[in-house]
Amino acid sequence: MTLSERSESKGLTFREIDGQDGATAFFRHARKTGRLAHAYLFTGPEGVGKGTFARTLAKSLLCAKPGDEPCGTCDSCRQFDHGNNLRFITVTPPTDKKGVQKTIIDVESVRDLGTRLSSKLGVGNTRVVLFDDPIGDDAANALLKMLEEPPAGNVFLIVTQSSGALPPTIHSRCHKIRFRPIADEMVAKRLVERSSVAAADARFLARLAQGSMGKAVAYAEEGWKEMRDKLRDIAAGRARDPENFDMGEALDVLIKEGAEADEPEDAKEGEPDAGVADYRKGLRKSRERARTCIAILALFYRDLVMAREGGAEAADPETAAALGKVLEKVSTERLLERLETLLAADGYLKRNANVRLTIEWALVA
Ligand SMILES: [Zn+2]
Repeated sequence: MTLSERSESKGLTFREIDGQDGATAFFRHARKTGRLAHAYLFTGPEGVGKGTFARTLAKSLLCAKPGDEPCGTCDSCRQFDHGNNLRFITVTPPTDKKGVQKTIIDVESVRDLGTRLSSKLGVGNTRVVLFDDPIGDDAANALLKMLEEPPAGNVFLIVTQSSGALPPTIHSRCHKIRFRPIADEMVAKRLVERSSVAAADARFLARLAQGSMGKAVAYAEEGWKEMRDKLRDIAAGRARDPENFDMGEALDVLIKEGAEADEPEDAKEGEPDAGVADYRKGLRKSRERARTCIAILALFYRDLVMAREGGAEAADPETAAALGKVLEKVSTERLLERLETLLAADGYLKRNANVRLTIEWALVA
């Protein structure tokens, strides 16, 4: 199966989508005036609601009734909510011989789509095709051919995290809609409402997630607030000796408890397939964990700099209180220096540097 008509967007409406008022207004207008392009490219960071928006838009474009929102009651909306609307196609990565779904849409998936699109649409009908997974190079070329001569009545919605992931030729065939990070206040508010997170914790999780609702929810579920408290306690312990203050010790804890917990053992001989897949998964997880810990430490340093330069009210009051002693002895220059080191370390990890070596470097840099 490379195509799926399943939808997880039951009951979705534009008014439920946070922080994307510009895109909502744009498409409401386009639908009202009937001026729709045949292809849209949704770009923006992870977790800001691009995929949810695309599904809501698809439902709205297929809805039989006019209005600002999909009506939820017409045949099309009901089928959409049940995941069996035949005029909504999600192109997904194929599965391998063992039935495991791959992570990238390949050329076969796009060829299958071509076959599906050759079936005629009724007069005046619209069909929506969604790409919400990474697209391989060959698949992108096949898709480009489709976009060059778009079959009438079809609207393509292509979701991508980084605009560099697709060739410029695809970009030039699509109307680009940029999704922006969601404001911290909005993310925090939704965390309190939907995930019953305490307000002070929600503020921290929102800052850490940098405008991504999806990440904020994941951070809440994965217990990153508790990890923050732990790292802060260790840092505060070091703060009793402020002249030697460094987050280094907290970072050390991260190596021992955080990163290594997920670090895979070397792939075992004799079980190459599953072993290698697990190994890669473990590496990715340990890298993500390390980057989140670094982001937390970077927030500490920011709070300390802000507490000094912008007055206590500018910083997270809990961190300022816990680490306040540091401010008496450590220069702003030194704090900024450490912050820079952490950001550099994150940059290395993002570019696939070895996790342990990078952390060790950050400790002494
Ligand atoms: Zn409807």
